[in-house]
Formats: sequence, structure tokens, C-alpha cells
Amino acid sequence: MSREQFLEQLISTLGADVAQRGAEVPQRFWTDWSGTPPVQPLALVRPRSTEDVSALLRLCSQHRVAVVPQGGLTGLAGAAVPAQDAVAVSLERMNAIEEVNAQTGLMQVQAGVTLQTVQETAVNAGMVFGVDLGARGSCQIGGNVSTNAGGNGVLQHGMMRDQVLGLEVVLADGSVLPMLRPMIKNNTGYDLKQFFIGAEGTLGIVTRVLLRLRPAPQATATTLVAMPDFDSALAVLKRMQSRFGNSVAAYELMWDSFVQASMSWLKLSAPFAERHPLLALINIDGKDEAQLQSEMQEVLEQAMEAGEVLDAIVAQSVAQAQTLWKLREAPAELNNHMHPAINFDVSLPQADIGRFAEACEAAFTARWPGKHSLYFGHVGDGNLHVSVDGKTVNGECDAVEAELYGLVAAFKGSVSAEHGIGLHKKPYLYASRTPQELAAMRAIKLALDPLSLMNPGKVF
Ligand SMILES: Cc1cc2nc3c(=O)[nH]c(=O)nc-3n(C[C@H](O)[C@H](O)[C@H](O)COP(=O)(O)OP(=O)(O)OC[C@H]3O[C@@H](n4cnc5c(N)ncnc54)[C@H](O)[C@@H]3O)c2cc1C
Repeated sequence: MSREQFLEQLISTLGADVAQRGAEVPQRFWTDWSGTPPVQPLALVRPRSTEDVSALLRLCSQHRVAVVPQGGLTGLAGAAVPAQDAVAVSLERMNAIEEVNAQTGLMQVQAGVTLQTVQETAVNAGMVFGVDLGARGSCQIGGNVSTNAGGNGVLQHGMMRDQVLGLEVVLADGSVLPMLRPMIKNNTGYDLKQFFIGAEGTLGIVTRVLLRLRPAPQATATTLVAMPDFDSALAVLKRMQSRFGNSVAAYELMWDSFVQASMSWLKLSAPFAERHPLLALINIDGKDEAQLQSEMQEVLEQAMEAGEVLDAIVAQSVAQAQTLWKLREAPAELNNHMHPAINFDVSLPQADIGRFAEACEAAFTARWPGKHSLYFGHVGDGNLHVSVDGKTVNGECDAVEAELYGLVAAFKGSVSAEHGIGLHKKPYLYASRTPQELAAMRAIKLALDPLSLMNPGKVF
């Protein structure tokens, strides 16, 4: 069957409002936010139901046509960028909240609902959802599942994997795998849903997700803390955790380079009279705000006496806390101010993060003295983000990557803490995985997608 005959059958099976030919596909579906060059897909399908997804994959499997699942397209690894001979499948119309129950702490949604809608629905039900990240208004739950997203809440609630109780997935041959069981414990053989979490659309299409919600804290206290060096930052984190335990909800570290860029791009005023090497944004959850603030103040005073803290602001209102947190929002501006932004999200043994950042700075400066690089991250869970402005390194993006990933291997870290492998990190997967692990991954891929039709060319 020719490609034209396939397209005719696709449209007659799914309807012209669900399936479109390549020439009619709006350009926003041609690439994602990673800056990967756009590609017009063979067709775009925007299913309304699991049945639509199943019919599509059955047809694609019969005709050996590849499929690229797309969520909110906010991914930073190029994993949702279509291929010329593939059908792009956007889940954006499957955006229903099917059930929310504060008693059981569960929410069932279709995969195309945005993270922000899930968060707001949880709050309206008197609960919270454990994952939060800057792209919340655009990224979808299906995309969050498929990238095992992290973000600001990992310290307290874990990654996306820890928020998922069940999934419904359509496999490459069109069969539906229903795994929507509202139970935490279920040791009956392999936990199949885990294979699809973080699989970047290479094993099937996620169509429904059963999410765990968390009780909403009655109060949250926020502080912005200035510190002289990374070891002090770790010492302050440990102090906070020993005082507040799992109530330390966020610990976001920002190097001065990041703080300066953030203030300039977002037109924010300087939080402190002086510049400091490192700032941390810390949220502590609890029952009583005034009590939390006073305990937080006590810990900060002890840390100041020990020389770990140089200055601190404890937010006195929700509005002030929100203003402090604006400092952390610069990542949404990276693509507007860096040309291109070369972004990294690496994971490292927590104690080594400071030395790793220094090693990167030294290596970059030696080769590109005029380079502009930023360091920030969810340091509470060992995750560092680095962004380098491509035009300040003469556009030598590959060389910057080779330099940084070489250091990741030397520090025994992971080339991706959160964003995944996609297209961008494929050449460096070996730095984080052994040949034996890669062989086991390939065997799973072959078992679930024997024709290699699901998001081909991504991850491996
Ligand atoms: C400003 C900004 C801040 C960010 N901050 C963070 C952060 O703190 N932590 C973090 O982890 N990430 C972060 N990201 C990255 C990104 O937002 C996440 O990776 C997000 O989970 C991607 O979701 P999406 O819906 O946009 O997925 P997409 O980009 O559309 O797709 C990502 C991958 O998932 C697959 N996929 C999407 N939907 C499905 C589905 N229904 N079934 C099967 N496969 C599917 C795609 O094929 C692709 O492989 C950030 C991005 C931006 C732009």
C-alpha cells in the first residue's frame, strides 16, 4: 500500500477532524521546546478516546508506519519531535479529569490534561499533587509520566513515578493494557506500568493515568538564604532536614550567575544588598505559619553562627514568598536569551555537585573564555541544571556537551536526572548505562514493540 493509500485509510477510519495529512499539520506540532529543527510529519492524529488511539496503532502496525506520541511538547531532549515518515499523535484533546476523590486521595485523568489543571483540581479538592515544574501550564500528565518528570517537589514526594498508581496504555499493535488499580500494594508479578514511566513514548501510548494526591499542608514557610559555598549549602539542607524532617518541601539552589540572569531577564530587583556565591530557596510545610517562621529563623541563626549562612529573608506573606520564588523562574526564558541555549540536567552524588560545577566552569573557561553559563538545580535531590549560551562558545554545542558529559562520567553521575534521553543525549547514554543494562532495555523494547514503530530513533 502506498503512503497516499495509507493516509486515505487513516482519514476514513478516524475522520478528517481527528487525522490530518502532513501538509495540513500546523507548525506547532513540528518540533518541541528543545530547539530541535522542525520536521513535518506524515500526518497528525488528535484522538478523542482510547478507542481512537487503538484504531490508529492497529492501522499503523498493519502498514508498518511509525508513530511519535506528543504531549505538551515542552520536553527539552527532542523526544517528541516527529519524523518525516511517522504519524505524530497529539493527546491534547484527551484532557478530561474523570474522577477526583479527596477521601481516597485519588484522581483519574486522561493523558492530555495539563499538569496545572491537575494541580488546581487537587487544590480545589483540599489536596495537593506532588509534581511541580516550570512548564506546568503546557506540559501534559502523559508527557510527565513518559519522562518520569521531577521538578520542585521531589524532595518531599518523589518523582512522577511515585505519584502514579495506575496507567492505561495502548501498545504498538493497538491492544489496550488496562492497569488502573487503586492500590499501593500489588506484588503479583512484574509491575508492568513501571516500564512505561520514563519510556519517552518508545513502548506504547499512555491514555489514562490514576494519580495519587497528597494531603495539603496547612501552612508553608519560605526563606531565601545566601551562602558562601556549596558545602555550606549542604550543611544548611541537613540542618533543615534534621529539624523539619520530610516537611522540607523544596530546596532549590541558584549560583550567582543564574541569579543575575534571572534578575535581568525577569526584571526583578536584587533580594540582598550584596551579591553572594549561592542562594537557596527553601519551603517548609507544617501546621502553623508563625510557628514555622520562628523555628526556621532559629535554624538560620544557628547556621549563621556556624558561618554557613551569610544573609536570609524569611517571607512574611504568601505574596512575598511568591516574589522570592520568581527568582527561580528564569528557565522559561532560556530560549529567549540564549542563542541557542545548551541545556543540561545531570544527576550527581549530592556531595559532589559543588566540585562538579567548579570543574565545568574551569573546563568551559579554559576553552571559551567569554562563555556565559548558568548553574541551578534541585540540589536537595542531587539534580544540577547547567545552561550555556551557544553564541558565547562560537556555536560549538557538541564540544560543550562532550566536555560536560565527560565530567559526568568522571564524577559517576547520570546524563539525565529528569529530561530524558530523546534525540539529544543518545550519544551519551553509554556514560550512564552499562552495555548489559542497554541490552536488557533493548530486549524489553523488542518484546513490546517488535516492529520498532513506537517513537523510533529516540533513546537508543
Ligand atoms: C520552562 C521549563 C521547565 C521545566 N522544568 C522541568 C523540571 O523541573 N523537571 C522536569 O522533569 N522537567 C522539566 N521540564 C521538561 C518538560 O516540561 C518535562 O519533560 C515534561 O514532563 C514534558 O511533558 P510534555 O507533555 O510537554 O511532553 P512532550 O515534550 O510532548 O513529550 C515528552 C516525551 O514524552 C512522550 N509522550 C508524551 N505524551 C505521551 C503519552 N501520552 N504517551 C506516551 N508517550 C508520551 C513523547 O513522545 C516524548 O518522548 C521543563 C521544561 C520547560 C520548558
